[in-house]
Amino acid sequence: MHIDKFEDAIMNCRFCFMCRHLSAIGNVRFTEVDTPRIRAAMMYGLRTGTNSFDDEDFIDALYRQDLSACCVHHCVNHYDENGLALAARADVVEAGKAPEAVKKLAAKYEKSAEWTIDGGKGDVAWFLDETTAADKDVVAAVKKLFAAAKVTPRIITGGCIGKVLKVLGYLPEAKATAEKFAAFLKDAGVKTLIVTNPAAANALKQDYPEFGVEVPCKVQCLSGFLMGKGLKFKKAAGEVYALADDFQRNYEGCGCMYKMLDYLKADNKPFGTNDEESYCCGEGAVVLDKLNPDLVKALAEYVAARADNPKKDCIVVASPYTKKALVKYGKLKAITLDELAASCL
Ligand code: SF4
Repeated sequence: MHIDKFEDAIMNCRFCFMCRHLSAIGNVRFTEVDTPRIRAAMMYGLRTGTNSFDDEDFIDALYRQDLSACCVHHCVNHYDENGLALAARADVVEAGKAPEAVKKLAAKYEKSAEWTIDGGKGDVAWFLDETTAADKDVVAAVKKLFAAAKVTPRIITGGCIGKVLKVLGYLPEAKATAEKFAAFLKDAGVKTLIVTNPAAANALKQDYPEFGVEVPCKVQCLSGFLMGKGLKFKKAAGEVYALADDFQRNYEGCGCMYKMLDYLKADNKPFGTNDEESYCCGEGAVVLDKLNPDLVKALAEYVAARADNPKKDCIVVASPYTKKALVKYGKLKAITLDELAASCL
């Protein structure tokens, strides 16, 4: 089974309650089953025969996890309870026990894996993923930033590049999609790919190597690209509340967001009661808003309840997914880092 690769997490997390306060789902449902300890105990139960994939409640718990990797990041031993949860989903799918809603979503995203690139020139491309594309303000901000940097990227549009399939537990399909997108990039002659959604960037930086798929170009977030170009900004960003990104902080240990905030001369204020929790509303689970919108609403309301001044505070996030949840359900003034940067030109 895939979960066997996460022996440390199964054997240690099942006795540990140290990171329970970092389980976003546990914090809004007030349920022990949504903490790493109980999830690990349930995985152990698969071995002892006290649990099985026939238990629908167990499967539901696996598919409502926010997958922020917050607990792994802050665990003193970095036991990978997040990887364990992803592996369990893959085992569920292989056992033919995926819920109908998950099967439908996976089929839809597998079918969407087609892309086009515009007929422009040059070897710099921007992957305009579906989540970024759905936010017209973010798209306008990104275009403004490219124009200021005097770069005209070729634009790639299209569907899933493998992340959703991997997160839902469909590993062979995710790998096949990764191979297809890598071949597409190679055929298009892309040398630098700018990605404005941390989930898509993480697919290319971590999932593809895990699948043994070589990415034929350099992958950069827009902030890193613009700082590398030495783009000058006229205005200081002022007071903001930046929320750490699940993929950038917890999965990759990347501090690009904070470098960009310094670059923009932002006065970044502390948010909430601690800087450990994930406030990303299930960003790591990528399609949690499609599988369980009520849960995403509860997560966004939890974040909103921690804002000093919900109507006025400028909340800055890396991901268009998180922005959407915080604006729609949390009624917060959330913008992406790219929008903040564009407002400083
Ligand atoms: S991830 Fe670390 S802190 Fe969290 S339950 Fe496992 S051992 Fe404990």
